[in-house]
Amino acid sequence: MHIDCLVVGYGLAGATLVRELLEKGLTVALVDDGTKASSQVAAGIVNPVIFRHLTPSWMADVLLPFSRNYYQQLSDLLQVKIFHDTTVLRIHAEGEQAHWVQKQSDPCIAHWLGSPTGQSIPGINMTYGASRVNEAFWVEIALMIAKLETYSQHQLVTLCETFDFRELQLSTEGVRYKSINAEKIIFCEGFRAGENPLFRFIPFRPVKGEVLILKIPGLAEDYILNKDVFVLPLGQCLFKVGATYDWSDLGASATTKAKETLMDKLGKFLELPYVVLSQEAGIRPAIADRRPVAGFHPLHKNVLIFNGLGAKGAMLAPFFAQELVRLITEGIGMNPAVDPIRFTRTLNP
Ligand SMILES: Cc1cc2nc3c(=O)[nH]c(=O)nc-3n(C[C@H](O)[C@H](O)[C@H](O)COP(=O)(O)OP(=O)(O)OC[C@H]3O[C@@H](n4cnc5c(N)ncnc54)[C@H](O)[C@@H]3O)c2cc1C
Repeated sequence: MHIDCLVVGYGLAGATLVRELLEKGLTVALVDDGTKASSQVAAGIVNPVIFRHLTPSWMADVLLPFSRNYYQQLSDLLQVKIFHDTTVLRIHAEGEQAHWVQKQSDPCIAHWLGSPTGQSIPGINMTYGASRVNEAFWVEIALMIAKLETYSQHQLVTLCETFDFRELQLSTEGVRYKSINAEKIIFCEGFRAGENPLFRFIPFRPVKGEVLILKIPGLAEDYILNKDVFVLPLGQCLFKVGATYDWSDLGASATTKAKETLMDKLGKFLELPYVVLSQEAGIRPAIADRRPVAGFHPLHKNVLIFNGLGAKGAMLAPFFAQELVRLITEGIGMNPAVDPIRFTRTLNP
């Protein structure tokens, strides 16, 4: 079989990339072993504001409108609501509201910082006030990936298996994997890229994250609340609460420690009783310099990578998937900040 692109991994990175490749009329085969991944656990929140210093998220002015448009269009195409406009309500810590008001005159971020709300929410302690973030939304990432796969299945050859590097042959003409000859191979393996022998020069810094699914009768479902943890309404009194960040334990299992951390943080502002229904863990594919990585391998011209979406995959993936496909099909250069070549000093010291 001869195809244009072989894609390894079908999480958020792989799914957005495959969609762009197919849109351009390229032929694609996919390898994914169905291991539960970061994309299956993610809350999918797109929030342009980093609360710690009240600074904008990287490239938010470009990425936020781009991703909003992308998910809206995809909802229409797939005829399923994967995109939800919402309000993120930041519950302030002591002194934070004054900083917020001051930042409302900073042109870099002012348009995303809504005015402090005088409103109260039953069952929520808002002693130091709360303010809205403008233009936030959330995406049902796992649902989107599943629907995209079904939508594209007649155009895709899919191998449900763990990619076997011993079966990969690289040449100047292309790549061969088992019976597949491809022009290019693109790795979208999430945090498991750390096991990929071709990309050892990239400083991956995977971060485990855990979430709880709670039933909280009586809590308003109009906002994503945020104060050290987010509380995302899923409907019918169900809420996703997260997330933890752990750089040392990269095991797949959910932990008691994370559950206690989340419940402790939640208890600082939630005054309603709740029931914990379930807990999930995933590993975010992050990189030391906190930027994604998308582009060609520095030595093998038929090998590419799309990874490093970290904690912001929902905002980053659509834009950089499109940019990567432009690079492949039209040779249009990408933002150097995401080019794997930025790490080549490690490869050729
Ligand atoms: C708790 C938590 C909460 C999060 N919340 C948000 C949020 O609110 N907003 C946001 O934007 N982001 C959030 N994220 C981050 C988001 O999940 C990631 O940015 C994104 O999903 C990463 O997608 P990916 O495709 O790169 O990796 P993954 O989702 O890990 O997908 C990788 C895929 O590759 C496959 N694979 C890997 N290696 C192989 C192999 N050798 N052979 C075959 N298949 C292979 C895997 O099975 C998987 O399907 C959260 C993450 C976590 C853990």
